[in-house]
Amino acid sequence: METRIGFGQDVHRLEAGRKLILGGVHIPGDKGIVAHSDGDVLIHAICDALLGAMGLGDIGTHFPDTSPEFRGIDSRILLGRVMEMIRARGYAVGNLDAVINLEQPRIAGYVPAIKEELSKLLGAAPGDVSVKATTTEQLGFAGRGEGVVAYAVVLLYKAK
Ligand code: MG
Repeated sequence: METRIGFGQDVHRLEAGRKLILGGVHIPGDKGIVAHSDGDVLIHAICDALLGAMGLGDIGTHFPDTSPEFRGIDSRILLGRVMEMIRARGYAVGNLDAVINLEQPRIAGYVPAIKEELSKLLGAAPGDVSVKATTTEQLGFAGRGEGVVAYAVVLLYKAK
């Protein structure tokens, strides 16, 4: 098959006094993400979408959260490793579309920086990387500020 599609989703808990990093970009605020790694929920969803597109399982299989190797790790390193797997199979990223579901802080102002970072990591043109921020109108765990959700869809194409 010349093109393959993948979908990923991730959730992390939010707590006061933690760092909030989305798409490799640090976003200042009252709360941050609780996780074994740096908790970059957006990059985790993207990794799962890429792995899913290639039928390679999920992020937990490749980078277990029980392993000391991945404690506090910059998730950009994990995405780099996933991209190596994709490239080794002759595929490249056609385009990415992602959604971040977060009540506070409002992150629209950070989206251009996130897209630029992801574009570099994925080896995709900036116009092929879409990141959207939304809320759940104060409904559910995300709406209560207890957690953050990210979704990603990616299209890969056979590059060689
Ligand atoms: Mg995660």
